[in-house]
Amino acid sequence: MNSHTNTPTSSSLLGNLPFPAELFNSIEVGIVILDGDFKVQMWNKFMENHGGKRSGEIVGHSLFTHFPEIEEQWLRTKVDPVFNLKSPVFIIWEQRPYLFKFGCNRPVTCAAEHMYQNVTMFPIVDDHGNVSQFCMLVYDVTEQALGKLGMEMLNGELETASRVDGLTGLYNRRYWQERFDEVFKLCVRRDKPSTAMMLDIDHFKRINDTYGHQAGDKVIKMLAALIKRCIRETDLAGRYGGEEFAIILTDSSVDDAKIVAERIRQLAQRLMVEHEGETIQFTVSLGLAQFDPEFSSAMAWLELADQALYTAKQNGRNQFRVFAPALA
Ligand code: GH3
Ligand code: MG
Ligand code: MG
Repeated sequence: MNSHTNTPTSSSLLGNLPFPAELFNSIEVGIVILDGDFKVQMWNKFMENHGGKRSGEIVGHSLFTHFPEIEEQWLRTKVDPVFNLKSPVFIIWEQRPYLFKFGCNRPVTCAAEHMYQNVTMFPIVDDHGNVSQFCMLVYDVTEQALGKLGMEMLNGELETASRVDGLTGLYNRRYWQERFDEVFKLCVRRDKPSTAMMLDIDHFKRINDTYGHQAGDKVIKMLAALIKRCIRETDLAGRYGGEEFAIILTDSSVDDAKIVAERIRQLAQRLMVEHEGETIQFTVSLGLAQFDPEFSSAMAWLELADQALYTAKQNGRNQFRVFAPALA
């Protein structure tokens, strides 16, 4: 694919480069000159230091023999425009973290396992206008990459934090409601009905008063874990208020939901929360309402589950109640 000429001497090559010869070895950028067969013609100090190969060892040899981590076919295709169109080619770290697997030995950037690199490759045009060699510049962009990756990770954590309740790991009320609105819209088109469930701990104030607020927190946390174990991954569970939880059991009729509600009720009653040498026991009340296409909004639906919960409380707590039109 490439025209070949006699390999020029180092000094004549440097004469063709767009930077002064003294820069070649002092610059903190990798400079490699290769011919059309990817035989190394020049290899600067930066490449010696980071690649662990002295210029004398590698000049005249194929790049791929010395750096087997480089995918030969991929790089050949990538470099094609340098020869055929005489245009530069770039490899950026976001697409490929590195071309050369160099370690990362600077203390500031030691968080990375390898050096992140941006690579520029451009043609070296001889006096006759032919391209028989190209120059590769290898930039160490580790700090920049770590900064960006760190920021992305932080953003991901922030996003999770804005959705999830810190104590229970369930969705917080705001996010739960957003998702609930979507679920509500989907319910209209589903074949199987879904059921809304509201749950509230009975006499929770007493738990706080008797054992302290921290003990109360622990109860909420343990109950949330219990709820998670009783529902499916596809169900939508959120901490709706202090000790109140809202759950949408998708593709569950009210009869299916009754089984889940009763299981949660029984497990909660049996749960023993240990706190500072004391054992705390508690019960919960639950309200259920099955979806109906007649509902005007998601909140109208949840309101009915809440009414059923209120009835459960009125009837003596530690039970579930199903919304029945007579309740309204
Ligand atoms: P009921 O059976 O009628 O539900 O009685 P209750 O005592 O549970 O009454 P209610 O649900 O109104 O009380 C909730 C209490 O929960 C009030 C508040 O002090 C407490 N609480 C709210 N959020 C938290 C929390 O995050 N941690 C703790 N420890 N307590 C909370
Ligand atoms: Mg309560
Ligand atoms: Mg409450």
